[in-house]
Amino acid sequence: MQDFRTFLPPERTLMGPGPSDVHPRVLNAMARSTVGHLDPLFIELMDNTKQLLQYAFKTTNALTMPVSAPGSAGMEACFANLIEAGDTVLVCVNGVFGTRMVENVKRMGATPVIVEDTWGEQTSLQKVEDALKQHPDIKIVAFVHAETSTGVRNDAQALCEIARQYDCLTIVDAVTSLGGIEVDVDGWQIDAIYSGSQKCLSCVPGLSPVSFSDKAVEVIKSRKTPVQSWFLDMNLIVGYWGQGGKRAYHHTAPVNSIYALYESLVMLKEEGLENAWQRHADGHKKLVAGLANIGIDMVVDENYRLPQLNVVRIPEGVDDAQVRKQLLDTYNLEIGAGLGDLAGKVWRIGLMGYACKDRNIDHCVAALKRVLT
Ligand code: PLP
Repeated sequence: MQDFRTFLPPERTLMGPGPSDVHPRVLNAMARSTVGHLDPLFIELMDNTKQLLQYAFKTTNALTMPVSAPGSAGMEACFANLIEAGDTVLVCVNGVFGTRMVENVKRMGATPVIVEDTWGEQTSLQKVEDALKQHPDIKIVAFVHAETSTGVRNDAQALCEIARQYDCLTIVDAVTSLGGIEVDVDGWQIDAIYSGSQKCLSCVPGLSPVSFSDKAVEVIKSRKTPVQSWFLDMNLIVGYWGQGGKRAYHHTAPVNSIYALYESLVMLKEEGLENAWQRHADGHKKLVAGLANIGIDMVVDENYRLPQLNVVRIPEGVDDAQVRKQLLDTYNLEIGAGLGDLAGKVWRIGLMGYACKDRNIDHCVAALKRVLT
């Protein structure tokens, strides 16, 4: 049998589509002693984590908490709780994660109405409005705020406003947006939103912060059929993550991962949300200028480009996989490949959370310059 040894990972610089670099404070928090998940001290930490998530999401929603699983589970939690079989759900698709939403809708026995736009472009508000007019039975409008596969920011505020005009609930994917660009759950009146710990929050992967408006909670409480997923049923989870000392066992929370998330949120609060958004915007500007100097262009229009996920054109005649391999092997630097139609044509350079800093940007531009020449 093979001689198995302790895994000692190298120190990579993570500038792909996520996970992104985890702050040492977060890694240290994670290494602290595990306490019981019903220990009064841990319950207090759960309450504080919820409050900090409310701050990050800009909401007073009582049902705000991390799902004990990655962003995909947060996505599934939103769809599973709000959808009942037979419902009609409008899904905006302009990248990979929109297509996953469609898959969720279908698997929950609902009918998707798909508003499709070209990858690399924004979701068309006009098309959404036309579809809502054409299908008065639509109950929910779902869209991805920051499409990680294309680097496009969809206009969350405008999409929520249109949805409201047609009396629809909204489900918003904020996996890549939370902490990196403005997300305003109460201001935009979002009904259900999910994110991920491993992107702009500088935390380890594996948790999905979610938040539900009071209106969404009413819909969940008055369902005619049980939520098809026991684990993700908010009616049950609320007994575990609900406010105060009295908690009913639902599952065993990933205690040390919650320490990590809490610490990352404390750091976000210390920095200030607006300052964090500005840091991402400034980092993006610096990266764009650095890449332009070595002849690398951006793909997405600057009016709706994500600062935290930069999709760049691979220069003519360059071997995509070879360059990424060399960056990893020689410079310990990870950047992302293109997905779907964009595979082989673009790289995705992340500037997420702790990874968004001058040192990383300089390292990335210098390493790319060396490898390409
Ligand atoms: N939604 C978006 C926009 C994402 O970028 C991702 C992951 O990259 C997900 C959902 C799924 O998150 P996870 O990989 O944590 O399950």
